[in-house]
Amino acid sequence: MTNKTREGKKNTSPFHSSHANDWCAGCGDFGILHSLEKALTRMALSPDKVAVFGGIGCSGKTPYYLASYGIHTLHGRVLPFASGAKLANPELTVIAVGGDGDGLSIGAGHLVGSGRRNVDLTYLLFDNGVYGLTKGQASPTLRFGEQTKAMPEPTMLEQANPISLALASGFSWIGRGYAYDTQHLAELIEQAIRHPGSSILTVLQPCPTYNELHDKDWYAGKDLDTGRPRLYSLQDEDYDPVIEEGASPTVREQKRLQCLGKASEWGQRIPIGVFYQDLSRPPLSDLLRRQAEGHMPAPAKQSICDKQGYSLVRLDSLFDRLSV
Ligand code: SF4
Ligand code: MG
Repeated sequence: MTNKTREGKKNTSPFHSSHANDWCAGCGDFGILHSLEKALTRMALSPDKVAVFGGIGCSGKTPYYLASYGIHTLHGRVLPFASGAKLANPELTVIAVGGDGDGLSIGAGHLVGSGRRNVDLTYLLFDNGVYGLTKGQASPTLRFGEQTKAMPEPTMLEQANPISLALASGFSWIGRGYAYDTQHLAELIEQAIRHPGSSILTVLQPCPTYNELHDKDWYAGKDLDTGRPRLYSLQDEDYDPVIEEGASPTVREQKRLQCLGKASEWGQRIPIGVFYQDLSRPPLSDLLRRQAEGHMPAPAKQSICDKQGYSLVRLDSLFDRLSV
């Protein structure tokens, strides 16, 4: 590995890492890594204020390939790690990365819990329809009846839809990008990071080694009836995903139904972009701060005990307030 880009220019991003990379040639993961690096650089964040948490799978190795704090966590458990880090040190920009198998199968419960909590973090879900690291078994996003080359039979399981699941779980920012459209993807990553709450960005990520059904030629295809490109941007079609602060229940319901409608589009036409953004919902840290003002500053920012080991955290008045 060198720190040169494909065009031979020197990569000057402070987030660029020269750590040896073992992803397969042509993997969509490279596009996501490049877009993430680009977004963080453009936001002028300092690498020592960014923590990237990886799940288990090919995508879970991302923290090694980025020059920031990086933590390789447990299968399906990336979101609790990331949430804990953000609550302990709110100054960090916290990003969790993981695959569709990691996040929608073993990690599905944590995905639901994270949406409900609305901690201010960003989750990048690499969606390639297979378990790439373990040789191409069907992942939860492969559709019923599909069969990729490593599978002896078509899958008998129904697909889990990450956008609908994220909406039902309470994520306050939901988007979808495409790994090889790095310009658009970097913009989406930046928007997701800037959103004050739990953001989930699913990324359509070709796996050239194990998923020959959804390769870059398929994604670059066109609608057979109209000739329009298969992938299209919601924002190019004036789709408005935002629920403003103070929005009425009717508007909220309309935005949720709109998101569900777009989540179910697949095949000839596939939307990418921002599906949903709820600006009326405060992140968990704001609620905790309001409740615990003066009692529990961010744990990473305070001494928790004196030299004798006695706790410096005073919770008595908080407990008094919460007693019934
Ligand atoms: Fe990428 Fe698939 Fe190779 Fe994993 S197995 S590195 S997802 S191409
Ligand atoms: Mg996968």
